[in-house]
Amino acid sequence: MKKARLEAEQANRTKSDFLANMSHEIRTPMNAILGYSELLGSLVNDETQKDYLNSIKTSGRTLLTLINDILDLSKIEAGKLELEFDFIDTLSFFTEFEKIFAFKTSEKGLQFNTEITSGTPAYVYVDGVRLRQVLLNLVGNAVKFTHKGSVSIKVYCENLQVLAYSNIKSEEVIDLIIEVCDTGIGIPEEYQKEIFGSFIQVKSKMSHGGTGLGLPISLRLVQLMNGTIGVNSEKGKGSVFTVKISEIPFLRSYDSTRSNLTIDTEEILFEPATVLVVDDVAENRNYMRDALKGTNLSVIEADNGRAAMEIIKKSKPALIISDIRMPIMDGFELLQEIKENNDLKDIPVIAYSASVMKEQKARIHKSEFAGLLIKPVSMADLYLELMNNLPYVSKSESKRGESEDTKIIMEDIEDLPGLISSLEGEFYIKWKMFELRQPIREIKEFGNNLVQLGNQYKCSLITRYGEDLISAANSFNIDGILKLLNKYTDLTGSLKK
Ligand code: ADP
Repeated sequence: MKKARLEAEQANRTKSDFLANMSHEIRTPMNAILGYSELLGSLVNDETQKDYLNSIKTSGRTLLTLINDILDLSKIEAGKLELEFDFIDTLSFFTEFEKIFAFKTSEKGLQFNTEITSGTPAYVYVDGVRLRQVLLNLVGNAVKFTHKGSVSIKVYCENLQVLAYSNIKSEEVIDLIIEVCDTGIGIPEEYQKEIFGSFIQVKSKMSHGGTGLGLPISLRLVQLMNGTIGVNSEKGKGSVFTVKISEIPFLRSYDSTRSNLTIDTEEILFEPATVLVVDDVAENRNYMRDALKGTNLSVIEADNGRAAMEIIKKSKPALIISDIRMPIMDGFELLQEIKENNDLKDIPVIAYSASVMKEQKARIHKSEFAGLLIKPVSMADLYLELMNNLPYVSKSESKRGESEDTKIIMEDIEDLPGLISSLEGEFYIKWKMFELRQPIREIKEFGNNLVQLGNQYKCSLITRYGEDLISAANSFNIDGILKLLNKYTDLTGSLKK
C-alpha cells in the first residue's frame, strides 16, 4: 500500500509538473482565439454572425478562467509557485474591493461595507498579488451568492509579538485577520468542509457558473502564506469566510521601511576591498558588477558555492554576496562551510535571493547571514547592506575633531559619576567600534540607548545627542553621523569639567 501511495503521489507530481510547464503553451492559443474574435466583432455586421462570435468570446473567456485556475492549482501542487512578499498599504489595499465590485453590488442592490479596525498597522508584509486573488475570489463568491442585504470585509489584528532572531536582529509581527461576510444563501453544514476540495459546488437548481476551483486555490495560497481559511455559515442566513495569516511583519508608518530609502550614493566612499558575488545566473552577477562600478570595491565572481569556496580560500574577499538557490552547492551550504572554517568565519556573507518564501526568509534571518538582499535589488538597499558590513567614509566629511555644541547647561544631573562611568565604559566600547564601520542599524540602536541613558540620569545633553544620532541615521546623513560620533569624547570631557 505504501508503494502504491508513493506511486500515486509521484504520478500526481508528474501531472502537476507537466501542467505547470505547459502554462505558456496553453495560454498562447487562447490569446489568439479571444483576440481575433474581438477583432472580427468589429468587422462583422450580420446579427447572427455577431451572436456566434459572442458565444466564442464568452466560452473562450470561461475556458481561459478554467485553464488559469487549473494551472494555478498545479503550480501550487508542484511547489512551483513562489510568493513575492512586500509591504502593502492596508487602507488602499482593502478599500479597493468595494470599487471593483461597485457595479455588481449596485446592480443587485447590495450594500458593501469595508471596516478596517483601528490598530491595524498601516503596512503589512504579504504577497499582495496573491492575497488580492484570494479576496477577489471570496468577495466574488459573497456577491454572487447574495441576493439581498450586504457584503462586508472586516480587517483586524491580534497577537503582537517580537520575534528575536538573534541579539541584533528582531522583528515585530502580528496576526492579520480578514473576514468576508455576506447575508446570502449560506452553505449547508454538510458542504462546509467539502467546498475547499477541487471542483466542488453546492448542488442547487440554479447554475451559478464558476469552476469550483476558487476556494481550493484560495486555501492553498493562504496556507503558503502561513495562514488558514475557515467558514461559518447558516443556510438562508449568510456566510463568513475568515482568513487568518500569522506572524506577519508590519510597519506603523512607511518611514521605517527600507524600500523607499534614499541614500546619496555619491556621498559614500568605500575603502578599497574585494567583494565576491556568487550566483548561477550571469545577469545577476553582471548587475552587481555594474552597480559597484565606480566604487573602490572590486568584484570577483563564482557561479556556485563550490567554486566560490575555492576562490574564498585563495583570495579572502572582504565580503561575499551569495545567491541562495544554486546548483552543486547552495547558499546555505556555502555559509555553513565558511562558518566552520576558522580562517574564513569572520567574512560577512549577505544572502542575495529572488522572491523569498516566508519559511526561507525566517531561515535566512535565523542563520548567520550578515544581511539579506531581495532581487531586484535597489541601490539604496545594496548600499545599506554594504555600509553595514564594509568600512567607508563620507566624501564631504569635514575635518574631524570639532567641538562646538558640547557645552552643558548646568542642570540637576543625577549621579554624575555614574553617568560618566557608563559613557566611558560600555558605551565607549560600542563607540570605539564605530571608528571602523558605521552600520546604520547599530548607530540607531546606540542613539536609542543614549537617549535612555540621558533620561535615566536626567542629562539633556546626552538625550539630545542620542536623538541627533538617531535622526542622522534615519535620514542617512552620513556626514552628520560621522560628525556626531567625533564629538563623543568631547561630551564626556565636558561632563567631567
Ligand atoms: P466557484 O465559485 O467557482 O463555483 P468556489 O470554489 O469559489 O468555486 O466555490 C465552491 C462552491 O462553494 C460554490 O460553487 C458555492 O456553491 C459555494 N460557496 C462559496 N462561497 C459561497 C458563499 N459566500 N455563499 C454561498 N455559497 C458559497
